[in-house]
Amino acid sequence: MAASRTKIVAGNWKMNLDRAGAKALTAAVAVRTAEAAGVELVLCPPNVYADVVGATLAAGGSPAHLTLGAQNMLDKPSGAFTGEVSAAMLKDVGCTYVILGHSERRTLFGETNSIVNSKTKAALAAGLTPIVCVGELLEEREAGRTAAVVTEQIQQSLAGLTPAELERVVVAYEPVWAIGTGKVATPQQAQEVHALIRALLAGLSDAGVASRMRIQYGGSVKPDNAADLARQPDIDGALVGGASLKADDFLGIAAAFRSI
Ligand code: PEP
Repeated sequence: MAASRTKIVAGNWKMNLDRAGAKALTAAVAVRTAEAAGVELVLCPPNVYADVVGATLAAGGSPAHLTLGAQNMLDKPSGAFTGEVSAAMLKDVGCTYVILGHSERRTLFGETNSIVNSKTKAALAAGLTPIVCVGELLEEREAGRTAAVVTEQIQQSLAGLTPAELERVVVAYEPVWAIGTGKVATPQQAQEVHALIRALLAGLSDAGVASRMRIQYGGSVKPDNAADLARQPDIDGALVGGASLKADDFLGIAAAFRSI
């Protein structure tokens, strides 16, 4: 069953690099995509560099499985929203994916499940594929509340989607205690939550839809821990922060998902 899902590895560059660095990293990944043949790769630069990354991909004749994504967007189509970008603008500069509800958006910028839900609907309506992030805080895990927290995040962030819309969503399970800390979840810890998420997705639609949806793991994924994660039946790829800033590491992670 897992084998029928195309693996997806996305790089969240966060607020890093400059124009030249974004161009160079894109080009470095683009020339080596064969190392991760069959794996869908997504580069998510800061919005201000989306154009140059998109142009670099286009100039390199980038294969269809290397695409552009964004890290956030607003749920409104246009208007007086200083500093924000819309889904249509992201589409206009060539984005296919958009990360929504990343834990940094939730904790630093106050994004609630309801906001993530509204953004998810706006992204889908504009033809973008949302990568919707969920994950528990350390204190929630230690209090035995992981399943409850993730259940609430999934049910509220993805509420009101039709099965066809839901099927277009990618979910990223990112335990907050593992993001940027070097503390990766064990493959068993990750698999347990991924299986829960798939069951929740089935509850929101049906088992067939849930079995076709991709669920990425994120949190300190590196080339040397990616293979063990990739072997888990419900882990369909990775959302990568720090390691996505080096072509070797990003491609090393993607290659681990290639052979699964
Ligand atoms: C992330 O920001 O989504 C992430 C998983 O970061 P890192 O890989 O650095 O832990």
